[in-house]
Amino acid sequence: MEDLELLSDFSSFLKEKKEEGKKIIGFISHDNIPEELFDAGGFIPLRLMFGGNDDLMTASHDFLPPSTCAFAQSCIGLFSLKPRSYKFLEFIDYFLVSNHCVSDICASEIISKYFNIPRLNFYISYTKTNNSLTYLKLELQDLKQNLESIMGSKIENEDLLNSIKKYNNFKKKLLEFNKLYVKGSEKLKIIQKALLFGPDFHPTLENIIQKYKENSNDFENTSKDVILTGCSIFINDYIIDLIEEGGANIVFYDTWIGNSYFSQIISDDLIEAEKDPLNLFVHRFNKNIYGDHSVPNFLENKIAQILDMYHQYKQKTGKKLAVINHIIKFCDHISIMSSFFKNKLQDQGIPVLNLERDYSKANKGQLSTRIEAFLEMI
Ligand code: SF4
Repeated sequence: MEDLELLSDFSSFLKEKKEEGKKIIGFISHDNIPEELFDAGGFIPLRLMFGGNDDLMTASHDFLPPSTCAFAQSCIGLFSLKPRSYKFLEFIDYFLVSNHCVSDICASEIISKYFNIPRLNFYISYTKTNNSLTYLKLELQDLKQNLESIMGSKIENEDLLNSIKKYNNFKKKLLEFNKLYVKGSEKLKIIQKALLFGPDFHPTLENIIQKYKENSNDFENTSKDVILTGCSIFINDYIIDLIEEGGANIVFYDTWIGNSYFSQIISDDLIEAEKDPLNLFVHRFNKNIYGDHSVPNFLENKIAQILDMYHQYKQKTGKKLAVINHIIKFCDHISIMSSFFKNKLQDQGIPVLNLERDYSKANKGQLSTRIEAFLEMI
């Protein structure tokens, strides 16, 4: 069921920001996007991070074949069908076309072109060589200049540094929240809301953490603890309910709406030492070795990271974790390596469910059965 209250609150939030003279930049939600640059320039980043449904997917088939990933299909569907609760998408002033994956580029180009939203480009290197880092710096300079010419004012280094610190502090708070042992669906809702509203949500997040700490014994978990990796669970997606009804509790979200976002913190020492703040984004990209955008060695790094989480969790709680690898249908980045990923972890005794699906409601029963069977087995 759609969280209408969240969407309505977000709509009011954007309206207020527009009235303050801010401009809204939409983009498809993965990682490596320099939101701090938008913030420093007087823009509001709007992540497309909404789960889909049959109607949204079908509406995208006027533009792309059904073999496009279900998330990208649904993003296009949102602009094509314009559902009432997503009217706030009309506030978007610019759409960022970036290259996290092929579906991301195609969907972003289509949204910009066919729904008449002026386009900004930002291409992110795939490799981490000196040349690719130099290329990324040029892209950042270009994006900065474009933002400055839209607003008619320079983005000062000091303002950019302040934005970087603000986002850093926000991510640190999210990391603190992430460590709390709370029901997985509650945790997800709060992480999703935080990413949607950005650092404006920081004070609310502090209150939430305080409340959970005061009631730390309230959550009695009889479910099996799992890590969710692969594709994110986006806002209003029913999959989290199926996972919990099947008997699992997600303790760690190793996805774009999760650890891949809030682990991207730039160290204070580096911020102090660096003269050009744009270099901080290059540095952050270079250190982001677990993101699925990165080649080479992404998969090896990801497996090492999950093993590390598994052993740390076992040491801390005495419990074993299982892994659900969430694969949105036709997501090349995650699906192409799923067999290798599963085999490597299972060789180490960690059970893995490769859960591939689209947003179709008709698949719910089959998904439930697969989740239950997996949890039964472990
Ligand atoms: S293919 Fe995967 S990485 Fe690309 S937009 Fe779809 S879900 Fe995201």
